[in-house]
Amino acid sequence: MSQLRFKVVDEAFNRKAEPVEMPKERPEVYYGKYVFNRQKMFEYLPADTYKALINAIDNKEPLPMEVADSVAEGMKRWAIDNGARHYTHWFQPLTESTAEKHDAFVEHDGKGGVVEKFTGKLLVQQEPDASSFPNGGIRNTFEARGYSAWDISSPAFIMGNTLCIPTIFISYTGESLDYKTPLLRALNSVDKAATGVARYFDDKVTHVTSYLGWEQEYFLVDEALYNARPDLMLTGRTLMGHESAKNQQLEDHYFGAIPSRVEAFMLDLELEAHRLGIPAKTRHNEVAPNQFELAPIYEECNLANDHNQLLMTVMAEVARRHHFRVLLHEKPFAGINGSGKHNNWSLGTDTGTLLFAPGKTDKDNLRFVTFVVNVMAAVHKHNALLKASIMSATNAHRLGANEAPPAIISIFTGSQLAEILDMIENSTSAELANLDSREGLDLKVAQIPQLKLDNTDRNRTSPFAFTGNRFEFRAVGSSANCGAAMIVLNAAVAEQLADFKTKVDARLEAGENLNHALLEEIRALIKQSKAIHFDGNGYSDEWKEEAARRGLDCETSVPLIFDAYMKPSTAEMFKKTNVLSEVELAARNEVKWEMYTKKVQIEARVLGDLAINHVIPVALRYQSILLDNIVRVKSIFDGEKATEFSADDIANVEKLAKHMKVIKDEVAAMVDARRVANKIDSEREKAIAYHDTVVPHMDIIRYHIDKLELMIDNEMWPLPKYRELLFIR
Ligand code: ADP
Ligand code: MG
Repeated sequence: MSQLRFKVVDEAFNRKAEPVEMPKERPEVYYGKYVFNRQKMFEYLPADTYKALINAIDNKEPLPMEVADSVAEGMKRWAIDNGARHYTHWFQPLTESTAEKHDAFVEHDGKGGVVEKFTGKLLVQQEPDASSFPNGGIRNTFEARGYSAWDISSPAFIMGNTLCIPTIFISYTGESLDYKTPLLRALNSVDKAATGVARYFDDKVTHVTSYLGWEQEYFLVDEALYNARPDLMLTGRTLMGHESAKNQQLEDHYFGAIPSRVEAFMLDLELEAHRLGIPAKTRHNEVAPNQFELAPIYEECNLANDHNQLLMTVMAEVARRHHFRVLLHEKPFAGINGSGKHNNWSLGTDTGTLLFAPGKTDKDNLRFVTFVVNVMAAVHKHNALLKASIMSATNAHRLGANEAPPAIISIFTGSQLAEILDMIENSTSAELANLDSREGLDLKVAQIPQLKLDNTDRNRTSPFAFTGNRFEFRAVGSSANCGAAMIVLNAAVAEQLADFKTKVDARLEAGENLNHALLEEIRALIKQSKAIHFDGNGYSDEWKEEAARRGLDCETSVPLIFDAYMKPSTAEMFKKTNVLSEVELAARNEVKWEMYTKKVQIEARVLGDLAINHVIPVALRYQSILLDNIVRVKSIFDGEKATEFSADDIANVEKLAKHMKVIKDEVAAMVDARRVANKIDSEREKAIAYHDTVVPHMDIIRYHIDKLELMIDNEMWPLPKYRELLFIR
């Protein structure tokens, strides 16, 4: 009966690894082949143009139009030499994917033919209009047009036959409609603020760069199986499916041997990534069956984020060549681990110092403690906002479940750093003054490097962990644009560092010596932000209670979590750092609520369809087989035997009837709940209604469908089961 399921299982099961064409050259030859990097700029641009462009990139200055024309000409020649026929402004609207609108280079030549042309004007700015992207009302209120403008700090690249130019996307009146614009603003802001503080320790510092190294987790599913699951196709996750008898209990997948089909895919993906200048480095199996990870070498934050966005696109394409589909959803399968995107984040000076790394001298260590403590203070102050920055309809399924960080932000420091913080916190002012003497610091703070902070006691249950020379923000979702988290983190730290500097400067002006002034302010911050520090088990129920007592944000409803963007402290922070105006903030939240509603709405529709049109009909057919059997049993046997032989079937008929009744009633109630919610005007209220009144029905429907899956003849079950989705590769 379920011929389709058996056919696709068969197809998937018999698939072999696809051959991968290995380049003849070594990576240093093909790495960045499709990127207009400095080497290509040097080769294709006149010397003056090259110098002017590099100057503009390095000093974050605008590019004069004459230079832009000359850059465009050189870029076009390079692109054409590499097979491109089109160009596009490539941008990151608030949909969590990238957008492009392609134009051919061709222009009329005035003689009935065409020439291939590209000018500075087309390179620097475009009006893709793109009026269907979510904008939270900004463009209704202000101006209908949206503009994209070249981000010269991220190099152009070729995808397929198209030259892609990374751009920001803004409204006519300058409001950002994307992730990149506020990210660039936040990076500028943290550069300024961190440079100010870093100069206490090294007056040669003129810039601080924010670094990001993301670890991308994902699932692979065979395309035939994927195509037979409407829920995977339309929502990216399974809305039904009983757990497989074998899951990840044996932990035999984690770091296990990579299956050959998958390895071919990974190799192909890495080759492609390297040609696009994405420094892919690490690959391994993850915890759940069919779950994997790719991590690059870390890069400057904006570039790293572009690379992550690009990689997600490339992954999907390469997967198709290998008859896989990539699942970037945070929780494609219930009952096993979901996928995250750990954001490893650090700050580094242009003098080559990683600011969160302990050093060899007491001065290094005071610098280390200064920066780490300021991050803790910023994360403490804005813990609700940081949570909001990573929250989404999809990530909500992963956070708080018993395998991912809880929906509470806290910082893990490890015992060695914790001891140092305790020591400073519990010192009197006189003792701090003492610490300032050479021996004091040598004895206490300087023991950090010998202890080697890296990798020692990692706590996998923490959403925000200190890991030796960086922080690892683990709550970010696998499908997210890292920009959302990086905007908040960099801006919050910028605000905090600027405030710290004001206070330290005031002490210096009052005649205190530098080390003492720093230590006094550090101690104040440690005391003030103590609540954010938690090294225990983040998955435990006790922690939830403890976190609430500490005043950390424990909200679990996604639409309400987004309220953190509307808090006065948020508006003030984004204003001080010039990252987002109140208008932009309000507009962005409208989009967040709207996206939440739409995602739940789509899932609810798909689940309703699966329940009524796939599952119930099969349950009915199975029920009538049982009924037939009962009738036959009774026609052959009588008396006690008839009762005995038909008892189980009768019980099952009743059970089936009960499950079907609940499913049908719940689907009807879910549809009603949607109808009511859809009438609500406010995006926030509508999202709350979806969360509070639609989602609970979905959970119940799934529960009963999964029960039916256990009862009904395997041959009849219409959709590929978990054991097929997860173990065939
Ligand atoms: P894990 O054990 O957490 O998987 P890895 O050593 O694989 O850690 O590194 C994870 C990511 O962290 C990589 O992308 C790596 O480049 C990045 N990373 C390492 N050091 C830094 C740093 N100082 N700043 C930002 N990212 C970093
Ligand atoms: Mg990691």
